[in-house]
Amino acid sequence: GDRAYPIAIKSGETGLADPSGFASHFLDAVGDCTHAIVVQDVAIADSAGSMITQSLKSSPLRLSVIQIASGETSKSTDRIAQLWNEMLDTAADRRSVVIAVGGGVIGDLAGFAAATFTRGLRLVQVPTTLLAMVDSSVGGKTGINLPGGKNLVGSFWQPHMVWIDTDFLSTLPEREYISGLAEVIKYGVIEDADFFEYLEANIAAILQREPEPTRTAIAKSCESKARVVADDERETTGRRAILNYGHTFAHAVESTAGYGVMLHGEAVSIGMQMAAELSVSLGRCDRELLERQTALLAAAGLPLTWEDADVNDMIAVMARDKKVAHGKLRFVLPDRIGNVELVGDVPADEVAAAIRACR
Ligand code: NAD
Ligand code: ZN
Repeated sequence: GDRAYPIAIKSGETGLADPSGFASHFLDAVGDCTHAIVVQDVAIADSAGSMITQSLKSSPLRLSVIQIASGETSKSTDRIAQLWNEMLDTAADRRSVVIAVGGGVIGDLAGFAAATFTRGLRLVQVPTTLLAMVDSSVGGKTGINLPGGKNLVGSFWQPHMVWIDTDFLSTLPEREYISGLAEVIKYGVIEDADFFEYLEANIAAILQREPEPTRTAIAKSCESKARVVADDERETTGRRAILNYGHTFAHAVESTAGYGVMLHGEAVSIGMQMAAELSVSLGRCDRELLERQTALLAAAGLPLTWEDADVNDMIAVMARDKKVAHGKLRFVLPDRIGNVELVGDVPADEVAAAIRACR
């Protein structure tokens, strides 16, 4: 399917009430609406959250604000049940619109609440982490975790608008910001060689969070994800699998390290290095690809190795992973910067060698 909703990428225009500000873009995007329900991470209540509500106060909309505690534990069945009831308490009806303000946790939780409350309310995503700006707010996946696993309950629910303001990043801790850069670099490797070159030339300015290169990096990342998702909106053709570059290894790193030890993007960085090592040793790409990827990830301040990697534990996790078809190890592997292929039947000893190379 084609993406019909706008992704607005701004710098410092959120709190404004005039046509450059959030409220007028919001009304343009959603049309008929009487009531806005802002669902926000408490961590950004005084920054991004208050700028959104400040802008909306210039509109005729009735406004409700619901606070969500920070962290992955809010993506739970308990919290969504409470959220549905809080939405009911605001007297939400089908003309209400949910505005998710926060990182991927809020986007997934509030997005799933929007998808399900009274069989579906319109949704606007206002991502405030780099990861949410370049990944979770685009593509239409929403959901919550079960005790038995992450993202096991959810739905595809497209937003009416994604509003990105690079100013929101000013309060984001350095480690969270750098972690988000792993997904940015991933898009360059998997399907946009020109973007990879742009990142090589501008990584220092992006690390300084300079508005112009940061906005370009976010825009190119969103375009890249939207292109891949448009080819495979409901994960049926397999094209969407290329977004999992580095992720089969990363999930094994996260799982064996224990969730919470490493940030997701840190594990993805190590996972991309393992995947590139694997591709080189299988003869699918030359070593120069690995060297360029290594240099860019290092310049971004991302980890390249994990000294505690346990080869057997990691392979055991990967054999259980949903990205493994019928017990055979399957990976997204680059053949050149800007192109990857899904490769099946990879021998376990080659996988083990790639893990050892990043230890
Ligand atoms: P997050 O939402 O937990 O945010 C990370 C931390 O940053 C939190 O402590 C949060 O309170 C804080 N924070 C958010 N914005 C801030 C700001 N501007 N300034 C200061 N602190 C701020 O995590 P995340 O990394 O944004 O997202 C991870 C989640 O996204 C996971 O649950 C993952 O499953 C999900 N995800 C979903 C998709 C999808 O397609 N739906 C894709 C990737 C990831
Ligand atoms: Zn990821």
